Amino acid sequence: MTTVAELRIGDAAAALGIEAHVLRHWESVGLLIPQRSPSGHRNYDEQTLAQARMIRVLQRAGLSLDQIRRLAAGGRDDRLALIDAKRAEVREQLALLRATDRFLEHLAACRHRIIAECPDCAQFTARDRVFARSRTTRPPV
Ligand SMILES: [Zn+2]
Repeated sequence: MTTVAELRIGDAAAALGIEAHVLRHWESVGLLIPQRSPSGHRNYDEQTLAQARMIRVLQRAGLSLDQIRRLAAGGRDDRLALIDAKRAEVREQLALLRATDRFLEHLAACRHRIIAECPDCAQFTARDRVFARSRTTRPPV
């Protein structure tokens, strides 16, 4: 196994494709704490870089920094409640994305000039009411 050198903050940020101030912000909110060298420089080892990549992926999936911190360090009940709520959200988004994909596939072949004249197009646009209703009734996360 090769040893991975610890990176200073600028190199770590470059390796992650983010700005250094983002890493400092994550540290200030207690989300990602790098080791410090004897002279006080932040050292990002492979484990810390892996955590940073995880944060980026979860952020891209729509989780806030507070939610990510709760996943990492929250109590078991809080974590499970958050996971349940997020999974429900993800499934809802997946359903919408699948419906959108089917709609776009249909749209490429649709011969109707007006949406209301096409049952398939009308069915897709009717989904908006369903999703709008579920958004307003979902408990805050
Ligand atoms: Zn159509």
